[in-house]
Amino acid sequence: MLPRELQILKSHGSQYIRNLADVRLPDTFRGRPEISGNITIEQAQELENLCPVGAINHSPEVSLDMGKCLFCKECQFKQPDLIKFTADYKIATNNRADLIIKAGDRNPTPFRHNLVREEIGKMFGRALKLRQISAGGDNTCEMELNAAGNVNFDMGRFGIEFHASPRHCDGIVITGPVTQNMEKALQLCYDAVPSPKIIILAGVDAISGGLFADNEAVKRSFIDNHTIDLYVPGNPIHPLTFINGIYRMLFDKV
Ligand code: SF4
Repeated sequence: MLPRELQILKSHGSQYIRNLADVRLPDTFRGRPEISGNITIEQAQELENLCPVGAINHSPEVSLDMGKCLFCKECQFKQPDLIKFTADYKIATNNRADLIIKAGDRNPTPFRHNLVREEIGKMFGRALKLRQISAGGDNTCEMELNAAGNVNFDMGRFGIEFHASPRHCDGIVITGPVTQNMEKALQLCYDAVPSPKIIILAGVDAISGGLFADNEAVKRSFIDNHTIDLYVPGNPIHPLTFINGIYRMLFDKV
């Protein structure tokens, strides 16, 4: 007979997702978009006019930029036969251009392992400590990053954790469009992280400015002047996308 505490634990079952590489999210999830190869220039133009952030382009070829997309699905609601958001959450990559989906493209988001700096795999493969900087964020991506460490996703099992002091970290995770008020704090925090260090942009606001890209309070010179190691699209990001992206970066696995 098991002690009562063990019985309770057993009744809870397994809380964590055992295999994070093999999760099937519901079809309602807004992951990697696909655009029909049959879309006409006129139809693409109509969607381009509808999109609030200029993520859809009809020229020089029809495309959708996941680095700008709010994943609001308005384009799919308008043209459900031509555009569809799939349940594929493995959309983080280290090459900004790979966030742009072209019409007819149904391939998974590529990850360019040849672009990963040698020291990243060598030094951070066993443990990666990160400092999160909310640079004008709205607390959505921040909450999802918190969730990445909870009992379900448990990224700590791979040695990936957030730390308070940048001096004890290996890199920074930026959320938010980077406001003028946060510019100096961001630079100070980055400077305090010992080299070699990585930069991860989490969420569409951090990647492109998102809805706030043209706001006068946004100043993105830090992003423009540094090499980005990982782009994690989403609005907000999903914890699985974040963990999968880091996993790809460190271990060259999906
Ligand atoms: S889902 Fe993305 S591409 Fe479509 S309308 Fe919204 S922001 Fe634009």
